Amino acid sequence: MKKTTDENSLPPAVAIVVAGGSGRRMGGDIPKQYRLLGGLPVITRTLGVFEESSSISGIIVVVPVEGGSGHVMEAVASRGFSKIRAVVSGGSTRQESVRNALAALNHSVGIVAVHDGVRPLVPVDLIDLCVREARKYGAVVPGIPVADTLKSVDGTGRIRVTVEREGLWLVQTPQVFHRHILQDAYDRAFADGFSGTDDAVLVERTGVSVVMIPGSRDNMKITLENDLARAEEILTLQRDVKQGRRAANPVHQRVGFGYDSHRLVEGRKLFLGGCQIPYDRGLLGHSDADVLLHAIGDALLGAVGAGDLGRLFPDDDPAWKDISSTVLLETIRSVASGRGYGVHNVDATVILERPRLKLHIDSMEEAIARLLGVEKERVSVKASTNEGMGFIGRGEGIAAFAVVSVAGNEHDDGVM
Ligand code: MG
Repeated sequence: MKKTTDENSLPPAVAIVVAGGSGRRMGGDIPKQYRLLGGLPVITRTLGVFEESSSISGIIVVVPVEGGSGHVMEAVASRGFSKIRAVVSGGSTRQESVRNALAALNHSVGIVAVHDGVRPLVPVDLIDLCVREARKYGAVVPGIPVADTLKSVDGTGRIRVTVEREGLWLVQTPQVFHRHILQDAYDRAFADGFSGTDDAVLVERTGVSVVMIPGSRDNMKITLENDLARAEEILTLQRDVKQGRRAANPVHQRVGFGYDSHRLVEGRKLFLGGCQIPYDRGLLGHSDADVLLHAIGDALLGAVGAGDLGRLFPDDDPAWKDISSTVLLETIRSVASGRGYGVHNVDATVILERPRLKLHIDSMEEAIARLLGVEKERVSVKASTNEGMGFIGRGEGIAAFAVVSVAGNEHDDGVM
């Protein structure tokens, strides 16, 4: 395996990949870590990313107690993985499994990265970042800030309380630690009979502070049957980006155009550009009908050649009923970034007779910029009336036009 001089001088980082679950939640006879994703077993894909990571020098795989090593050995043989140092038997819990793997570590190991075998789409950059930060801080986990509203529900299905989501993160793996910190945490948990649902919690209770760093939305855990289909999509997009990166000229600019209109009705709130605008009527639609975000979303999809809003979020799909269009735009942004594109700038015009938008333009531009991950200066929102003509002039509806330009790596369809 190739290493840079710099990495050679550091204590090695070893990954513990836990493929020890029996996958009962997913149903079916084959545990989920052995199901096929893009033609390869999930676990093979996961191991492949760690094999590829320049910051990982060895891998220990934990397999289920009952006859689990066969698949892993097959993967190792078929893919020519060179970093697998040991295949150890899992325990009855994840915690026991990791403990078994820690016991198999060579003494020279300085950093340990514990990863779920069923997170095959972890970007190699994220592994490298976690290892780098763990060398600095001692204990690092990746995560994603919670975007949905959280409710605590009682046993009868009634909401007890809405949980403040500020400061709440969904935790991913790899969770990466100085080896002695993790070993100490596991020893103490064992001595105290404490069991936790991840590695960080064991470290937290020893008083060591654990640093949270931004993870990746691609880094999903394959738990349910549906997850495999979603993972296939992400895998395709990841491949596209990779292909794009290999293109001779890596920077491409493209432009997309979008139009949308919705009917104004009583009894609905008015959302425009991700902001709620005070008005006695609102726009009618399957989602919150934010006509401006829809036009921008369509323009962005058009720019990256990924279809349109209706195809991505069918209006007969209950999943999108009454959903905030901010979620739709965030999803579209990740589709674009999955294809290797980021937004360069947005120009949009909302056409309506009332209400006056002058006071809201600034907050709309700010909200759109935040959703698209660009500076506010790159977002322009304008408003115009229709001089009393047509459906807009009669106040029956609102329309929006948008142009979005993107820059990035062109993806290469059809190449594996
Ligand atoms: Mg619409």
